[in-house]
Amino acid sequence: MKKLLFASVPVWLFLACADPGSTVDYTQMSDEERLKAATEIAQSTIMVDGHVDLPYRMKVGGFTLQREILDVSVRTPDGNFDYPRSKEGGLDAPFMSIYIPAGNQAIPGASKALADSLILMTERLASTFTDKFAMAYSPADIEANFNKGLISLPMGMENGAGIEDDLANVEYFHKRGIRYITLTHGKDNLIGDASYDTTGTHGGLSEFGEKVVAEMNRVGIMVDLSHVSDNTFRDALAITKVPVIASHSSVRKFTPGFERNMSDELIQAMAKNGGVMMINFGGSFIDSAYAAGSAKVREHLVNYMAENNLSRSDSAFRAYAEAYAAANNPFPTVQRVADHFDHVVKLVGIDYVGLGSDFDGVGDSLPTGLKDVSMFPNLIAELLKRGYSREDIEKICYKNVFRVWKAVEDYAASQK
Ligand SMILES: [Zn+2]
Repeated sequence: MKKLLFASVPVWLFLACADPGSTVDYTQMSDEERLKAATEIAQSTIMVDGHVDLPYRMKVGGFTLQREILDVSVRTPDGNFDYPRSKEGGLDAPFMSIYIPAGNQAIPGASKALADSLILMTERLASTFTDKFAMAYSPADIEANFNKGLISLPMGMENGAGIEDDLANVEYFHKRGIRYITLTHGKDNLIGDASYDTTGTHGGLSEFGEKVVAEMNRVGIMVDLSHVSDNTFRDALAITKVPVIASHSSVRKFTPGFERNMSDELIQAMAKNGGVMMINFGGSFIDSAYAAGSAKVREHLVNYMAENNLSRSDSAFRAYAEAYAAANNPFPTVQRVADHFDHVVKLVGIDYVGLGSDFDGVGDSLPTGLKDVSMFPNLIAELLKRGYSREDIEKICYKNVFRVWKAVEDYAASQK
């Protein structure tokens, strides 16, 4: 709608500022000016986040389908996402994670049932707050919603276990609106091996997994390689007909030995495939020192609780825990997150990186200055300070992931 305002502007003025980004040197601005510029960019550009765990946050909060949904149309005291903060931060299309814990894999049917209920919950958000949220099943939907000022709720299924052992469920979930599937979660499943699991059940992608990837290509669901083992990653890349995504993974160089993040070899392979890696903001994903520190803090706090006969829910314990963690394991910084973007850009270029915060999914580990969806401009400002252009920021915010998504749509259309 903003574009209408320009209707009365003379053409010469339009031409004079046709490409404001190329003439602005953001590196020369004061921090205050730059944050203003970053906020303006965040507001005027579509911003997609590859992974926000709101549906599961609602489930954990007891907001099942039998009860009213969590009202995220207003500011919520907990969590990292709601409508007002999303508007402040310029976030327009958070992928809602339809998250299936690996524990469900033990019970046939339980994974699909949970996926179905989380999808219904997400749909209910959109149908309850029609002036704020809308479902989105394509880049075109997101653009249309953006122009109406609505926040899009595209959906990705985190854990291919929802497919159960029936290939027909891939098309079923496409019909239900799922636009990416993370092949595994924490444990090996029927599709392939997971990064957190050392069992090596299949040695990578299973035979069933190969069929699943081919079927996802055919129906038009993006293949998400966050959470899979390196072998599964390589196997899936070798057979996919279209570019892939990693919806919420960071750079392993900053977290040596943490297979959940991507090695340089995998980043290069993904870039060659034309895919996009969306950076996770969680403290343990961006900084191994922080990850090691949190393990130590956890150990201390467990002992402290036992010695003082306290429980996790005691307010005295919570205050102590917060102060102890702050003193002994300070949160990483926005700069550290920007380092991950820099690394990918230096290694393979600007066209293969995006945002995959994992907001509402990584607990109290988020970097200072990037604690919730309202704070995206802080990250954008840091990238501008490092010499990123407006066009670079737009690629990170949506152009890269839209390129992949459209390629997936086009391939599926060609198979009909
Ligand atoms: Zn995850």
